[in-house]
Amino acid sequence: MKEDRSLEISGDALGDLIDAAKARILEHIETLPLQPSADTDGAAAMARSLAEPLPRRGRPYEELFDLLFQRVIPKSFTTAGPGYLAYIPGGGLPQSAVADLIADATNRYVGVYAAAPGLAQIETTVTRWFCEIVGYPASAGGILTSGGSLSNFSALVTARWDRLPENFLSGIIYVSDQTHHSIQKAAMLAGFPAGNVRAIASDEKFRIRITELSRAIAADRAAGRTPFAVVANAGTTNTGAVDDLIAVSEIARVERLWLHIDGAYGGFFALTERGRRTMAGLERGDSIALDPHKGLFLPYGTGALLVRDAGALRRAHGVMADYLPEMQESTAPDSVEALSPELSDFHLLSPELSRAWRGLRVWLPIEMHGIEPFRTNLDEKLDLALWATEELKKIRDIEILAEPQLSIVAFRLVRPGLDLKGLNALNRGLMDRVNRRKRIYVSGTMLGDIFAIRFCVLSFRTHFERMQNGLEDLRAAVQEC
Ligand SMILES: *Cc1c(COP(=O)(O)O)cnc(C)c1O
Repeated sequence: MKEDRSLEISGDALGDLIDAAKARILEHIETLPLQPSADTDGAAAMARSLAEPLPRRGRPYEELFDLLFQRVIPKSFTTAGPGYLAYIPGGGLPQSAVADLIADATNRYVGVYAAAPGLAQIETTVTRWFCEIVGYPASAGGILTSGGSLSNFSALVTARWDRLPENFLSGIIYVSDQTHHSIQKAAMLAGFPAGNVRAIASDEKFRIRITELSRAIAADRAAGRTPFAVVANAGTTNTGAVDDLIAVSEIARVERLWLHIDGAYGGFFALTERGRRTMAGLERGDSIALDPHKGLFLPYGTGALLVRDAGALRRAHGVMADYLPEMQESTAPDSVEALSPELSDFHLLSPELSRAWRGLRVWLPIEMHGIEPFRTNLDEKLDLALWATEELKKIRDIEILAEPQLSIVAFRLVRPGLDLKGLNALNRGLMDRVNRRKRIYVSGTMLGDIFAIRFCVLSFRTHFERMQNGLEDLRAAVQEC
């Protein structure tokens, strides 16, 4: 019997490894404001050079850290930096990285409550905090997921179980033409034909048209189909548009549709007074998707799904097996329904069984700082988006395409004599010129046929000074167009 204990590194060796990583991480984090907002020149060639056969022997970790921190990591979008205004930023609180180190090093099993009750409770506490933030009652519950896409997936599966018979193919889901594509994907993964998702036109503020929604539901019923779910946006990815949640919830109530609210971008603005006002009715959703890796600035891989009736989540996901440890207390109940709802066996509430202890990366920073700095940061981002909008309006030929409802503003440059195609090309060029200056990084989107540049302010590291830099760069780029 050959024995190899080289994987069981000594305490000293582990300490050295952690110290070496610590030095690299600190240098990386401290220089974030100086790093280019994106740098992918030569990145594909570098990436190709990383393909290699399975290594037979090891290499010194300093060599590997050199590779990572000098060659690999710099060749990317600086998503954690203050200048990242593209797509939906978040920033990645390093406090959460420390939480992950603890969670991974202790490697407890949180899929089943009985295996680590305290750890499961910490994660349940986190989902209860989220319920409090959105204004959900005590009957609500939820799970942490890997992100908004998986939250939306579990939400649609839950809605399907709750509102449709086992043969569900006539079930229709209503979204707006601004809804994130992860809903379409979730519907497909949940087994629906692509044609069962109805995209309702949005209005001039990119919010779902309520009368069109009612009309579509009536038409589907008349044709013998089964409307069962509607997805409302609490902050679209394109422009941060918030649907009229109260009006949609009224339709959902009357029509007995499951109301899912996609708050992956906007949901945590419920921490702010303005956000709560803009998203009035948030608590009326049967389910809500949130993305702590966006609105709470956590590292990627942290999403959440909250369900107003936690039992619905369990009925949709709970499957028992003989080889699992006993659930919750010492006696295993023989049905999912018999389990106590306050105690969380996460595998009965989600598609996952073995999984990381995600709760700690949320819990640690909130316990360390309290929720106030999160609230203040989100409020500041709302202010920064408004400030940027006012500055944009002062630039000749800039047209605001979407005023901020939350922290996104969409705009374009308009020059006389150009048709739509010409304008779209002009604005793609303008965006490239801004990004080439590497102080901010922005992305664009299509609003109908119009190419729009957007600023999405959401990283905890983005403050006034960087926004001023960004506006300077935009003004200079406009001069060149
Ligand atoms: C980001 C986003 C999603 C998808 O979430 P992931 O965490 O990227 O999977 C869904 N909906 C909206 C509105 C989003 O902004």
